[in-house]
Amino acid sequence: MSDENKPAEVAALVAELRAHLTWAADAGVKNLGTVAAPQKVATQNIAPQVNKMAAPVIAATISRSPDSPPRDSSPDRPMPKSAPLPVTNPPLAHGVSGSSLKTLEAVRAEIGDCTRCKLHKGRHNIVFGVGSPKARLVFVGEAPGEDEDLQGIPFVGKAGQLLTKMIEAMGLTRDEVYICNTVKCRPPNNRNPEPDELGACEPFLVGQLASLKAECIVTLGKFAAQALLRDQTPISRLRGQWRTYAGVPLMPTFHPAYLLRSPGEKGKVWSDLQQVMGKLGLQPPKKAGDTQ
Ligand code: SF4
Repeated sequence: MSDENKPAEVAALVAELRAHLTWAADAGVKNLGTVAAPQKVATQNIAPQVNKMAAPVIAATISRSPDSPPRDSSPDRPMPKSAPLPVTNPPLAHGVSGSSLKTLEAVRAEIGDCTRCKLHKGRHNIVFGVGSPKARLVFVGEAPGEDEDLQGIPFVGKAGQLLTKMIEAMGLTRDEVYICNTVKCRPPNNRNPEPDELGACEPFLVGQLASLKAECIVTLGKFAAQALLRDQTPISRLRGQWRTYAGVPLMPTFHPAYLLRSPGEKGKVWSDLQQVMGKLGLQPPKKAGDTQ
């Protein structure tokens, strides 16, 4: 940093710090502790491998499922009243102790056997995340459900199977992307995460995103979008519109669990994912019988 740039950079850092602390305090987070300096994210072209699989179709094998009670009975059900108001995108590494970017393993180690919020009481497993540490694309959902809690892996129930089809329809595999949630422990009876829980767990999501340095983020459902964007606009209006999170393009779309209940909305999600494919330069896999 040159001397003449120092005042502006320090002012920007203080503004970001103040925005985060205000948000965290509003969210009911206690013992805020130290806040690391923001980390700049490079949107690198890291893992451009595209898997040419047989064409999956999102519409296939979708059935109404009782596997998990619906967390989002409506895609636009508002956040709790005490949830933070939209401010700005947060600094990418706030709340994670230490000033350097951490590996995913280090973020997981920092979580440990976490008891930072009340969700630890009923969980079977912490559901950290799964996928490639060099993923170009990250999916962020809301919270683990029953299957995920039991297996310790995100998106493995019926909604997860649909997400897998969505990923494959983009010409990718689950191993090539990264999948995680805003909170790492299952809320009781699949209720919505509460503001203090989101605030307590957010540093870990921030740490994951900072470590991944993906080229694109897709948020699934209103909670992930509203939490990362600090924007309580209904997901029905957020979806399909490019936003940015810490400089990374972010596409909000509906949660697969919502699609299981409202299969007529699948076309909108596919439209959103096609925008993402365009951003990443991906082509859908060829269907059986297609010729060169
Ligand atoms: Fe810790 Fe997050 Fe689980 Fe809460 S949800 S106990 S903050 S890992």
